[in-house]
Amino acid sequence: MNNEIYHGMKNFQRETFVTGFFANELSNTIGVPLEHENNMYAMFLRPDIKLLFNEMRVLFALLLGLSIFISILLVIFITKFLVKPIASLTKGTKSIADGNLEVNLDIDRNDELGELAESFNKMTDKLKHSEKMRNDFMNNVSHDIQSPLSNIKGYTDILENNISNKKAPDQQANREYLHIIKEETERLSQLTDQLLLFSSLKNQEDILHKDQFNLTGELKKIIRNKQWKLDEKEIMISYSIPEINVIGDENLLNEVWDNLLGNAIKYNQPGGSIEVSAEEGDSFISITFSDTGIGISSEEKKRIFERFYRADSSRTSRVKGSGLGLTIVLMIVELHHAGIEIDSKPGEGTSVSVSLPKK
Ligand code: ADP
Repeated sequence: MNNEIYHGMKNFQRETFVTGFFANELSNTIGVPLEHENNMYAMFLRPDIKLLFNEMRVLFALLLGLSIFISILLVIFITKFLVKPIASLTKGTKSIADGNLEVNLDIDRNDELGELAESFNKMTDKLKHSEKMRNDFMNNVSHDIQSPLSNIKGYTDILENNISNKKAPDQQANREYLHIIKEETERLSQLTDQLLLFSSLKNQEDILHKDQFNLTGELKKIIRNKQWKLDEKEIMISYSIPEINVIGDENLLNEVWDNLLGNAIKYNQPGGSIEVSAEEGDSFISITFSDTGIGISSEEKKRIFERFYRADSSRTSRVKGSGLGLTIVLMIVELHHAGIEIDSKPGEGTSVSVSLPKK
């Protein structure tokens, strides 16, 4: 080719890269002129595929070995770090589903799985706590239903005996027994009302029907309804309630005022006094019930919003209650995004303030 380079390999017609690469033909070479002892030659070159393949085989074998080794390492890693904790989480979940809450995962690590295990442990703690609360709740409800029922049964037995003995009736005593029976029935009825309200508040049913209403009228109505109880205990009541409209659920808020005024009467001394006041601030309206009653110690104050909690002084005294009143009050207050504050001195009196947001 007159000393020019022959580019057969470059110009070789190939259907695919591989077949072109493998074709062992002269036209698939590079040809260069070569001078040797004053003679001109042409040298044609192409790669030695066999030699290349030998090297490739070694390379492939090495790659295969390495990938098997890496796979084994990965399997060990995945089993130890992923499968095991997930398996113990699955076991824990199954055990909770079967009702066994005594599960504590022993997974101590700082990654997402560790976080999941920590949340799982927190969840089981919460479940245990609510299980305990549910049991306590059942015990309290059963006890609170049982005790008036046994009183009612006891006094009706006495009345029945009195009638069947055909003795001259002791009207005074009989009247007293009937009065106790009536009181206990009222207590049961109040308890069931409270339980129903508590359960619907707890289930967050669509219970809140907010509207604007006249607070002054409502508070005065509740005070009027309690007048006979106030008279019975000879308690003086004074109120300063300016004309105020509030936005909220009238019925539920009435439950709050009724409970707070009820407590101010129940836990007051005979001949004591109560002051009800309402004040309108910039963004809140606060309603306060102050009494001159037995008061609440700071230890008791921490617990009075717990369901069924009754301070010792209330348990031992003849004051009847379920311990659900303030729990319900707090639930309604929270539903209204309102606040409640209690200020009390044992032996001197208690002041309970509810602040309702104006908007
Ligand atoms: P109860 O049905 O016992 O009144 P509450 O939930 O209304 O239940 O109140 C819980 C406890 O808080 C009461 O048992 C009582 O000891 C205490 N308490 C509530 N209000 C007053 C108050 N105005 N003065 C003194 N103690 C109070």
